[in-house]
Amino acid sequence: MSKAMLAKQVESNDSILTKSSYYSPTIQKALDNVVLAVQDKLNILDVAIALLENKELLLVSNMDGCDKTVAFTKQLCAKTIELNDTLRIEDIRTDEGYVNSDAPNDASKMCGFIGIPIRKENTAVGALHLFSENIADLTKEELEFLNTKAETISIALTAANFSHQFMIEHNLLSKGPISSLIVDSKPGWPTVFVSANCYSLLGLDAKTNELPFRIDDFIHPDHKVVFKRSLTFHRSTQIQDLETEYDVVLPSGEYKSIRQVSYGEYSEAGKLIYVRLYLIDQTSQKELEVRLRKVKERSSLIIETLDLATWDFDPIANFTQVNHRWYEMIGLNFEDQEPAKNVWERRLHPLDKKRVTEELDDLTAGNRDTLNQIYRIRHETGHWIWVEGFGKTVEYNSEGKPSRIIGTQRDVTEQHKAIIIRQKQDALVALMSKAQEVFLEESDLRAACSSIFESLLDLAESEFGFIGERIISEKGKVALKIQAISDISWDTQSKELYSRYVNDGLVFENLDNLFGRVITTENEVISNDVAKDAHSSGTPKGHPDMDCFLGLPIKFDGVVYGMIGLANRVVGYDRELIDFLKPLLANLGLLMRVRGIEAARVSAERELKSLATTDDLTQLPNRRVFTTHVESAYQLLKRHGESFCVAIIDIDYFKSINDSFGHDAGDEVLKRFAKILLDGKRANDLIARFGGEEFALIAAKTSIEEAIIACERIRTDIEESDFSQQVLSRKITVSIGVTQSLTGEESIDEIIKRADLALYKAKEGGRNRVESM
Ligand code: GH3
Ligand code: MG
Ligand code: MG
Repeated sequence: MSKAMLAKQVESNDSILTKSSYYSPTIQKALDNVVLAVQDKLNILDVAIALLENKELLLVSNMDGCDKTVAFTKQLCAKTIELNDTLRIEDIRTDEGYVNSDAPNDASKMCGFIGIPIRKENTAVGALHLFSENIADLTKEELEFLNTKAETISIALTAANFSHQFMIEHNLLSKGPISSLIVDSKPGWPTVFVSANCYSLLGLDAKTNELPFRIDDFIHPDHKVVFKRSLTFHRSTQIQDLETEYDVVLPSGEYKSIRQVSYGEYSEAGKLIYVRLYLIDQTSQKELEVRLRKVKERSSLIIETLDLATWDFDPIANFTQVNHRWYEMIGLNFEDQEPAKNVWERRLHPLDKKRVTEELDDLTAGNRDTLNQIYRIRHETGHWIWVEGFGKTVEYNSEGKPSRIIGTQRDVTEQHKAIIIRQKQDALVALMSKAQEVFLEESDLRAACSSIFESLLDLAESEFGFIGERIISEKGKVALKIQAISDISWDTQSKELYSRYVNDGLVFENLDNLFGRVITTENEVISNDVAKDAHSSGTPKGHPDMDCFLGLPIKFDGVVYGMIGLANRVVGYDRELIDFLKPLLANLGLLMRVRGIEAARVSAERELKSLATTDDLTQLPNRRVFTTHVESAYQLLKRHGESFCVAIIDIDYFKSINDSFGHDAGDEVLKRFAKILLDGKRANDLIARFGGEEFALIAAKTSIEEAIIACERIRTDIEESDFSQQVLSRKITVSIGVTQSLTGEESIDEIIKRADLALYKAKEGGRNRVESM
């Protein structure tokens, strides 16, 4: 291979790592110089250097004349390298080892060979060799010279290799992100070394790459002290490495944040000699930190602004950390509090506790990863606040169990109360309309009260209770008639009481007790500690304990109609509940009043009705009733051909009775007379007072023969009756005219007229008789 070819190969491989570790224009020149020096000194032309390169032996510097015998030369050099010692062959044409080798036929000119190994750390990596006709003539000094030259090449190669490695390292560092400086510990800390990338770090032109250089000139005025202190620290203390942070101000005015790691180098006596400084640009990292801090500040500002309480729960340590607001929300100071979890659990509303703690346990157990709850918690001042809470598991341990749960809480009392109140009011309205509906449909106050009773207990969050109506008992005393009551029967006596209610007969007559006060004072009664209440007569044996009681009068227009009694509300009774239930009280009051009016109306109506249909003196149906009965019978005749009979009964000589015994005695006769008629009448017959001392009978589905028999019995009944109380020994008799309806053709008037004619006939015939027509 020619020098030109080698040079070409070297130039094409310009990457640091693939470039041969031996070749550089400098090395090539050195090798050439060695060859020239040997040629010159020994006056031999066939001198060359071969080197192992990537396991291949290359002739890197040789004479043109060698070209023809490259293969053979390589063979000999390889042998030299293998020997790692001088290879000397006096005559290659006769030498046993090379007779049959690749030696060229025409090797007469190069019959002698000397190869001297070129070493790198004791390993042969190449050979300096020569061919000569008279090897034997070489002096000891000339051989020494050859050895020295081979050694020189070895040193040059090692140096080249070292500098090559150094260049790689240098490039690696100077193009890297860490700049380095060395400052002398002499007064003024003069800089003795500055890495190239330090200039680019500071935004300086590479041309200014010369000393003196003072990093101090670039440090932010406020940070100069920090920097100086880091250096003096190394002087005063034998500290190996130290980290410092400061800003540098670039000529452009731009700032960079620098993290500096410094190492002190000390003499054996412990005196500081140098300080090595490594500067790392952490501007972007710092900016990120600042941004993160801002985000954090902003989110904590959001938490503060939203009035959020926060908690951070470690389920494994069972420890909860909370913020100021968390305690504030329930009226406590942040300071001197017992663990938040205890505080929280103790203050949970009894009706929410089970649900809320179960959900949290689920989260802690890892069965769910978020929480969203609304519940009540007791404020320090005693009232309940509504809290909306969110929770989320943010960390899990190696077993996959939650190890950190964080959450927020917000006081939503105002919003939630409004929702609850609306819901409750809707429920109350539903309750009231249901009571009205049942009452209207069934006209039954008891049904109305019991239909809403369970819902009322729910709404009032009470365990048991009753609705009572104020009545006046048979003994004339104010009492309570129970219209709805919880079934809390516990023994035979109370079971009997409840069954009396079921049968609509439960009346509380003793009002000298806690609930009775509602009726006697006509006011609400609240007792949140019944056991200590002076008016409590205690609960009967076996009755569930009564912790608290609320009695509300059912009033309408200022009149008390009854009361509601409620007991055992978990959180006790308050004004709020009373105000809430007011509309229901008025509503029940209205129903009770309406029922009173309704009852009065019904009885008045009955009265009027009987007045309109009954004869006042005899209590017999009057002529109007008689006429309608005749009309009905007449319709049946017309439709079904069912014939009927009509009779008119007239007392004989009644005028003379009045005249003899007085009008009142006449009235008494009429009353007694009516009673006798009523007692003797057949079930389906109707007897009415027709007017004066005239009576009438209508007998449906009756033949004239049957009617005559019935009338005859009336006549004899009267004749045989004793009226002596009213008219002494005076006999009372009647005349009766009876007739049967014939066809649907004739009118009612015609039928009655015919009965009248029959009566006339009976009078004419001598009275006290029955005549028919
Ligand atoms: P006769 O046998 O013809 O029926 O004779 P009489 O007297 O019964 O008949 P009359 O029609 O002349 O008289 C009926 C009397 O009945 C006249 C009236 O004073 C009397 N009377 C009618 N209504 C009442 C009443 O409500 N009370 C009393 N005490 N008398 C009455
Ligand atoms: Mg008459
Ligand atoms: Mg008469």
